[in-house]
Formats: sequence, structure tokens, C-alpha cells
Amino acid sequence: MTETSASNNPQSEKSTAEVSVTAVAPQDEDAWLFRKRLAKADVPEGIKAALQKGQPADAKFLRKFPYPYRSMVAISSDIDDTTPDEFAEYHRFLNTKEETPHGQGLGLDVGDSFWMYMANNQPNRTDNLNHGLDGVLTYFQGTDPTKKHFDHEIKHYWKAGWLDSMHTFGDFSRKNHSDAVFKRDYAVAAWDALRKDGINLEVWINHGNEANVDAFGAYDPHRFSVYQSGDDPKSPNYHTDLTIKNGVHFVWNSVGETQVGWDSPLFEIKLRDGQKVWGFHRYTQDKGANGIDWNWVPREIHRQINQGNLDSLVEHQQYAVFAQHLGGYDIGFPFDEKGVNSLRLLAKYQDDGKTLVARTSRLLKYELARKYVQVAQADADGETWLNVTGVADPIFGAQPLSVDAVRGLTFYVKTPQKTHLLVNMKPIRPEDYQFNAADATGKESIGIKWFKPDFTDYTFTSTDTDL
Ligand SMILES: [Zn+2]
Repeated sequence: MTETSASNNPQSEKSTAEVSVTAVAPQDEDAWLFRKRLAKADVPEGIKAALQKGQPADAKFLRKFPYPYRSMVAISSDIDDTTPDEFAEYHRFLNTKEETPHGQGLGLDVGDSFWMYMANNQPNRTDNLNHGLDGVLTYFQGTDPTKKHFDHEIKHYWKAGWLDSMHTFGDFSRKNHSDAVFKRDYAVAAWDALRKDGINLEVWINHGNEANVDAFGAYDPHRFSVYQSGDDPKSPNYHTDLTIKNGVHFVWNSVGETQVGWDSPLFEIKLRDGQKVWGFHRYTQDKGANGIDWNWVPREIHRQINQGNLDSLVEHQQYAVFAQHLGGYDIGFPFDEKGVNSLRLLAKYQDDGKTLVARTSRLLKYELARKYVQVAQADADGETWLNVTGVADPIFGAQPLSVDAVRGLTFYVKTPQKTHLLVNMKPIRPEDYQFNAADATGKESIGIKWFKPDFTDYTFTSTDTDL
């Protein structure tokens, strides 16, 4: 069944030209009419005042994850050495359900990252076609903001949702680690171009060695991270005033971690310019006999995603963000048989209702909404009204409220069939209602439906100048 319009009427045989009619199967008709009735009813005058002011929602009222899931994971890939062809090949396998040379695609919601600039002067071979670093998915050519490179591809994949993060402004790694070339001007030109293209990035992921001085979030004068100067107002590399203002709220600060599951992936970071941002945890490594044993590479993905880790996430109702470098090698399709099997296992955990796979930005924003949502509740005439009044982000303040900003939130209520859902006093659409049977707590729930799965093959072709 597809639900494309709130204005359709399954009882009517006719439709006007403007209204797209949803096909509702006879067995779904009752539920559909039921949701329409909930969405259509006016808020009774007597409870309007009570619905204005929301309260934080506790765990008794708010389910941790969208029903029926008991964990949420993201695959968060750094764009290092990834060419557009490599990007298209592995996303076609991960995100679509197309037939591919590696079997049917998995249909998972996996986002990726990109760069604006390429300043790396190392002789990397980036793919099995002998491309060098100029073949990597960057917006500009080299470090010249007047020359565009793969800007069409980046804009296209941003709109498609296959890109949702920035891997800093560029690859500023250098042969000589102290030969840094990044300057604030690069940040100014990058944000100008992104703004013009409507690319509203919220997720920043640090990259590379000490020459990547635009990194920020973990500066420590006594540790490796001493080079991070993107948030130092006294530095010529300072840019976090612009970067935060342009919408970056979530930062991976280069600190690798061995912990897989987190009750919450978010933590607060205080920057050197006095601003605060959300840091987030990524699983990057294990403890090896000789120190760090990185597993954030595609041929080791089975060490990240496997039954043991997934079962633990489900059991503890946790999040995990698996850091990766999916296009980082010159090996063609990045996954071997073990990797493909572990990804198919992940898809099965999603199909079985255990683990929801979400692009990084969605996972982080879901957690923010879950943690800080404010809900007002009132009863009238035997029915319950829930109004989501806001997400009280303690760092960035009240955020613009929309249905997308609170998708997946799921409330335990006595009678879902008699509960109306409002966002900012506006009834949500019938197709955004989700009624849930009792879960392991024995309680029924009602939710704002998660994002509709999108298996479209968005592989970029030269005719795709726009979606
Ligand atoms: Zn990187």
C-alpha cells in the first residue's frame, strides 16, 4: 500500500485532477479511516491551553527506539580516497534493492561524507583504475575555490541522502605533517558554495594527520590532538564561528574508541572559542596486542558488524556508529565475502525488527529529539491528545519543529486507537501515524512514523544535473 496524499478518500470512487488517490486495500481501510479521523478532529477548546506547554518525557512514556526496534546503528564512512565510481558502486549495493554483481542490494539507509578540497600531496593510488588523489570526490579542484570538480555529484547525492556529513573541509594531509596549508579563507569559500547549493550540513567528522589543522573538538596541549586549531580564535585556521553558524551541530573529534554500544551517542564538547557542540561516539578500533587495532576499514567490517555486537546492542537497547572508510582502497568493490555476510546480517536484524539502520545525521537527530523532546498531554471525551511542543536542545536551544525533526518518537499510551498526535499544535498526517502492539514491556504505543525507506538507485549519471 502506498500512502501519498493526506487528502484522499478511500470511500470515494472519484478523484479530482489535483488529488492523487492512495490505493487502500480493503483490509487496511478501517485503519486508514481511523487514522484519518484522528488526524482530522479539531482540538477541543477546553484542552488547548493544557496542550501549549510541554514537559520532558521519561522512559515510562517514551519508548527508546521506534517500534519494534531495540537498537539503532549507523555506518559512518569517511570519504578518504573514494572516487565517484567507487562511491556509486558500494552505495548501489548498500542503499538500493537492485540486482548488483554482488547480489541483491540491501536497501539500508547509509549516508556518507565528502570533501570540498584536495591538498594532499602524497602519491596515493585511489582506485583500481589508477586514479590519483585528483580522482577523489571533492567539490572543488585541488584547493581552488573558483574551479568546481564533482560539485554536481555532491549536490545530487546530498539531495538523495547518500551524503549527509562533511569530512572536514578537505584532505589536508601532507607528506610533511608540519606543512599545513589550510587557512580560514578555505572555510569562507566552502560555506559560500554550500549555502548557494542548499547543502545544509549538520555533521562534521575530523580527518587525517597533524597537517589537518582545521580539525577541532579534542584540542589538548599534551596530546596528539595539539594540532587541532579550527576552534582557536587566535589561529589563522579559525573557522568554528562560521561552521557552527552554518549549521554544524554534531562533531566527531578524532578520538577513536573501542566501545561499540552507547546508551546515548552524544556528549557535550566545549570549544576553545567558548561555543559548545555535540560530540558523538564512533566505534573505530579494538585493543590489539601492540596497541590500537583499527577496524574501520571495509575488509574488517565483519569485526564491527557481527551477531555478538548486534545482539549486545539489542539486549542493552543501545546505539552504535560504525566508523568506516568504504572507498578508501584501490580494491574495487570494498567488501569481501565476510563483509557482505555481515552486512546481510545487519539487514536481517532490521527486517526482523531488532535494529534500525539510519544514516548518521538521522541517528544523531533522533537521539537529540528523544532526549530533549517536550510533550504536552491532555484528555477529553475519553480520548488522549499529545502535542509535541519542542525539542529543548540544551546546547543550541529550541530547534525548528517539524514532523521530520521528531520522526520515530514513540509514546506508551493506554489506548493508541484513541490518541491524537500533534506537532506544534498541528495534527500530523494520517500516513504519519503508527499504532503499535504491546512490546516486551507489555504496553501498547503510538508513534510518529519513521522515514519512509527509499531504495531508489541514485547512481549519478551525467544527465543528473538535478534530482
Ligand atoms: Zn579521513
